[in-house]
Amino acid sequence: MQHAILADDQDIPGAHYYKAVLPADVNAKGAVLVIYTGGTIGSLPVDLADPDSPQVVVPWDEYVRRTPQFAPGQPAFIGCRVDAYAFDKPLDSCNVGPGEWVMMASIIEKHHDEYDGFVILHGTDSMIYSASALSFMLINLKKPVILTGAQIAYLFNSRNDGAQNMVTAIGFANPKLSGVPLVPEVCIYFNHKLLRGNRARKQDASGFDAYYTPNFPPLGEAGNRLFVDERLVLKPNDQAFQVVRRLQPNVLTFDVYPGIQNTELARNILNTKGIAGIVLRAFGSGNIPTKPEFLKVFRDAHAKEIVVQNVTQCLHGFVELGMYETSAELLEVGMVTGFDITPEAALCKLMVLLADEDLSFEERAQKAQRSVAGEMSRSLYVQALKQQKALEVRDDSDPVRLAPDRPIEGNWRGDKVFNASLRLYGGRITLLEDSPHIGIEVYLNTKSGDDLKRNSPNFAGYFRRRVTSVEADKEMIVGLDITNAARQLLNGGDRVSATVRIVEGKGILSWKDSELAVFINERI
Ligand code: ASP
Repeated sequence: MQHAILADDQDIPGAHYYKAVLPADVNAKGAVLVIYTGGTIGSLPVDLADPDSPQVVVPWDEYVRRTPQFAPGQPAFIGCRVDAYAFDKPLDSCNVGPGEWVMMASIIEKHHDEYDGFVILHGTDSMIYSASALSFMLINLKKPVILTGAQIAYLFNSRNDGAQNMVTAIGFANPKLSGVPLVPEVCIYFNHKLLRGNRARKQDASGFDAYYTPNFPPLGEAGNRLFVDERLVLKPNDQAFQVVRRLQPNVLTFDVYPGIQNTELARNILNTKGIAGIVLRAFGSGNIPTKPEFLKVFRDAHAKEIVVQNVTQCLHGFVELGMYETSAELLEVGMVTGFDITPEAALCKLMVLLADEDLSFEERAQKAQRSVAGEMSRSLYVQALKQQKALEVRDDSDPVRLAPDRPIEGNWRGDKVFNASLRLYGGRITLLEDSPHIGIEVYLNTKSGDDLKRNSPNFAGYFRRRVTSVEADKEMIVGLDITNAARQLLNGGDRVSATVRIVEGKGILSWKDSELAVFINERI
């Protein structure tokens, strides 16, 4: 192989680095590092005489021998320098997991500044997991990392998708070659579409259109030209690129389904020793059977500091725990919201978050609800609020001021607020003297002694509350929607206080804990 040399034997254990030797007269536009991990794109039938015999992944030298036109060091064809890192034992992607993700991440870390972009040749079966995991492991990435593969083994078959997938992925990875805008994200390129990796799902086991992103548009498309929709691409920041190497593999996905009333079964699964996190695939917008014994399984998991993230079994749409009082019970057992995250991205995100020893259990749970690599269309920021006096307000008492002990987190502005509410946990409304309801007012950021007026900019809402017979003896989460005021008055990093008073009817509103929950739209 005169066009590629083994550059470094000891670089990354389990992989070898091959550098192209370019002829002097070649004007290569930029450079891409291809990481060869295996998959159908690198497979051949075991018996070459029988194309239907089982396929096996071939080692790199065999791969290069069979595809000289794509091998590193052929800039006349591809137009840029293409170096390669090859796994010594390339794998069917069914066998790719956290250990291999760390290898890929380490290769990219080591060579991040030398190349314009990276292309990972990967099996299609677990590609969305690898893409999701890498998106959380490569923090503050500045270069494109594009996974691709094939549905037809292309090394021996001229009717294939692998060749186009690979050459076009190199184009998207290398703006100097193709002229496309820089996409500093982990992507999947497949069948003419550039997709955000942690949004992708595998939709076809055999067809060429194997992936799509149900809750996010394609980042780009390839026709006679390559196109990238810059508005959708994550903006790079000026913080240093870093790589996560520790993962917590003890997370599991758990489906609810009609008939999962056998709580013993659920309890046994969720009590498996060592479990650190659970992705709970729930119905619709996050609902699960609400039998008290079933809910207790999750309350117990929370008490054992197991993060349970609720995602939807639907292909489109959002989990909306706590946005309405109807799903309040799941919040009370400590479940966290997954919004529109894919189950695969949720699993990989938990593997990364739960391995972060700098974070407490509470911080891990909070971070799971925030989009960190463009994986969710919404984020949730929760700010605990404290008060000095009794945890109640009466029609004849002074207003109660709830104040934070630290600023609300995040780097967002008020115009990104999608929904905001004041949540009173363990809330109870007691009506007195035959009052049919009480009227509650909420103000944001007032000082004690301020004159509270509805026409003041601090007014956040008026809420008329009755008590149904079901609620009469029950503690509940009282959610007070303050979205409009939050849009005007809040930004990430602010200290936000809330003041509550009863202005109508006779009664008491009491609670045990309170917080401000701010839902941010990550798509605007
Ligand atoms: N089983 C193969 C793999 O994931 C399938 C493929 O690449 O299409 O490695």
